[in-house]
Amino acid sequence: MLLTISCTRPEAAGWPATDLGFLLHKNPSRIQTFEQSYGVAHVFYPEADADRCTAALMLEIDPVRLVRGKSKGTPEFSLAQYVNDRPYAASSLLSVALSTVFGTALHGRCAQRPELAETALPLRIELPAVPCKGGPEYVERVFAPLGWTVVATPLPLDPAFPEWGDSHYVRVELTGTLRLADALSHLYVLLPVLDGSKHYWLDTNEIDKLLRFGEGWLTGHPEREWITRRYLTRRHTLVRAALARLAELDDAEPEELDAIEEDADAEASDAAAGSEAEAVPEAVPGTADAVSGEVDERGPSLAVLRRQAVHRALLEVGASRVLDLGCGQAALLRELAPDRAFTEIVGVDVSMRELHIAARRLRRLPEWQSRRVTLRQGALTYTDASLKGYDAAVLMEVIEHVDLPRLKALEHAVFGAAAPGAVVVTTPNSEYNVRYDGLDAGVFRHTDHRFEWSRAEFAEWAGRVAETYGYAVRFEPVGPEDPEVGPSTQMAVFTQQRNDSDEKGAA
Ligand code: SAH
Repeated sequence: MLLTISCTRPEAAGWPATDLGFLLHKNPSRIQTFEQSYGVAHVFYPEADADRCTAALMLEIDPVRLVRGKSKGTPEFSLAQYVNDRPYAASSLLSVALSTVFGTALHGRCAQRPELAETALPLRIELPAVPCKGGPEYVERVFAPLGWTVVATPLPLDPAFPEWGDSHYVRVELTGTLRLADALSHLYVLLPVLDGSKHYWLDTNEIDKLLRFGEGWLTGHPEREWITRRYLTRRHTLVRAALARLAELDDAEPEELDAIEEDADAEASDAAAGSEAEAVPEAVPGTADAVSGEVDERGPSLAVLRRQAVHRALLEVGASRVLDLGCGQAALLRELAPDRAFTEIVGVDVSMRELHIAARRLRRLPEWQSRRVTLRQGALTYTDASLKGYDAAVLMEVIEHVDLPRLKALEHAVFGAAAPGAVVVTTPNSEYNVRYDGLDAGVFRHTDHRFEWSRAEFAEWAGRVAETYGYAVRFEPVGPEDPEVGPSTQMAVFTQQRNDSDEKGAA
């Protein structure tokens, strides 16, 4: 994680830009290293001449140390540890580093050049990756009123796959003429505010710190309420951790925790509502039409039937360690978590947004359930050695989201490389689409679907995959079966024929 601060000498100023070194108390001609509790901070100057001087603060985060260094009372919820951006993104840890490495400058003191500490300097600050829940406009909203010119550019999830959209990371460039101490205090307070996550924690004097470092600018800030609320959410982590621990003791549902947690997570996941379950015509005509995807008096919805069918199939193959590949918002993970037959459940998805919502939902489960569930970000079209050796993998409503030319890569990664004992695949039966009112012929059930297959097409694909990778396959309908067009969802259950999985599959 990197932060650069550049200073250009104002015209006709009687001092060189390298005096930035006096202000930061760091000599421009040296590289300095500072041990931190979570890793190492380096300060160096990529450029240092009379007209322009840039100081860089680089943090090397050691995730192991971050976890090991935690005392028992640290509010770290077990499920908050997996999607871990700490080594790469500028968040609370950068604030910690600013206050320890540039503490004197942050407090506006400079014994050697006191007048410089009081002078507004032409500054430029660059942060290549800032986690920013809510979008780049929040960067503008918090920094612009303080006199910064803001350029905030969202970073794509993967530049090679623009269709995956943007991540919630933003490249930030701030330019303005400000006192260095003010600039640093803005970053100190606002970076954790933008991040808004509750991964880690600074110390108990949060309110004091907010008031001290917000002095002179926070009270007049148009977004001061939002900033304060977000800044202090990390205090809730304390309460949350305490309640979570209590809940753990008696296996209670920690539902009450969510009442305290009115923060950006809620905003983010609400904004991101509209999961697939709502978007597709989930109703089984003549049986259930529960918009919420849950049960009404006419019976369970297709979404529920599908989860139950997959659950049953996993039990039938005797799986206890399972992968939910393309887990989305944790629909299946929540179905499986209460079943003690499963000792380890791993959800994998490419979408950070889905994973965040999944994590939030999983946090509501009792600890004895959530303990066995982990989430990982990953693309299923790439092999991943850590996915090897599981009893079963599920691809529930996932394959139809993959571009047909990339499907072979997914087949290889799942059946060839990860090679679980069983694979359960569900996908829409396109023949059934005629039974959905309002779904025009030739239109897919979901805008993100790349294809939808008839029963024959699915059987042909599954047969070829089974043959290639040494599995047997059987098919099962999900949802009521229409005599003419079959069931709405089709399911294939693959079971591995041999254990010495020599990979016959195409790469
Ligand atoms: N299995 C879940 C979600 C289905 S939606 C359920 O049934 O509720 C399809 C999911 O697959 C999405 O969450 C999407 O992000 C994920 N996905 C699509 N392509 C992927 C890929 N190449 N790698 C990993 N996940 C992928």
